Amino acid sequence: MMKRPRPGIPLPHPTPLSKPHWDGAREGRLRVQKCLDCGIHVFIPQPCCTGCMGSRLEWVVSSGRGTLYSYTVVHRPQQPAFEVPYAVAVVLLEEGWHMLDLDRHRRGQDRDRCRSRSCSRR
Ligand SMILES: [Zn+2]
Repeated sequence: MMKRPRPGIPLPHPTPLSKPHWDGAREGRLRVQKCLDCGIHVFIPQPCCTGCMGSRLEWVVSSGRGTLYSYTVVHRPQQPAFEVPYAVAVVLLEEGWHMLDLDRHRRGQDRDRCRSRSCSRR
């Protein structure tokens, strides 16, 4: 079941290039581009590979597993609609790409799990 965003939360404006990523997010899947020539994962969505400049990219579903690279806890929201505190994290996904993640649900046990430098998101 699709969750409705809170009123006032700024929403992404998918482009034809980024639409597969956002469609996946809506379905609960973390989609990323993968280069068919050199095999690296490319994120943020690009028209060509950032590793070899090849144009043969396909969309794949990431495992969602990774390592917490860095994080900060935000106590003053950038938008009044954001409920604080929330964490902004940089995660190194196991496929070798970095992602910025915003999580306002990771408290208690989940936060402790992330402090152990390993967390997952599905
Ligand atoms: Zn490539």
